[in-house]
Amino acid sequence: MRLKFALTIGDPKSAQIVAYQARSTGSSHLTKTDVLTALGMTQARHRAGLCLLYAKYTKDADAGFTALNELVKYANTQVRKYVGKIPGRKGAMAIRVLATKVLEEYCRTADTPGAKCRCGGSGEVCDRKATDREGRLIIVPCKKCHGSGLRPLTQTHVHHAILALVPGVSRATWYRVWSRFYEILLAWCYSQEAIAESEYQRITAMSSFYTESVAM
Ligand SMILES: [Zn+2]
Repeated sequence: MRLKFALTIGDPKSAQIVAYQARSTGSSHLTKTDVLTALGMTQARHRAGLCLLYAKYTKDADAGFTALNELVKYANTQVRKYVGKIPGRKGAMAIRVLATKVLEEYCRTADTPGAKCRCGGSGEVCDRKATDREGRLIIVPCKKCHGSGLRPLTQTHVHHAILALVPGVSRATWYRVWSRFYEILLAWCYSQEAIAESEYQRITAMSSFYTESVAM
């Protein structure tokens, strides 16, 4: 079972995820207790990654808060390299605002209000020409969202939020400096997610790990 489905087991808030879960747990050898134990172990070892996933898929506010703090900590280690010294007196606040925006983008799912692509969030569309030509339904990845199911975001609103705190960030400066910083923070979120995912898979793959009492 993918970690993103597993973590909704104790806290099934999202109907969409519950549906995925039902599909994905079919052949799993893990009991609910196994899953919760593995989640606890993953949490202890890779807190940032697991909190990010909880924030994204269960919209858990506490997890979101922890994830934001971890992201800000990481941002503080990178800010010199990407931005240098931030002019004005609100540098720390600017970093936190930027991290908040990164987290918002990272946490977007097809059920986030306004986030759904025109393909309906599935990331797939019917290729009408090919369908007519071949006489059967041809489904292709959506060109607008490249299969993510999410409406592409622009960074204009992030630029404006930073501009309110750091004077004189022109559009050129935004794209040359801040946008790269934003992207590196977003990439960090995905890398933490991947680390937590592989740790969870490693734990649950250990034959000594799971109980054999009840199959899920
Ligand atoms: Zn789409």
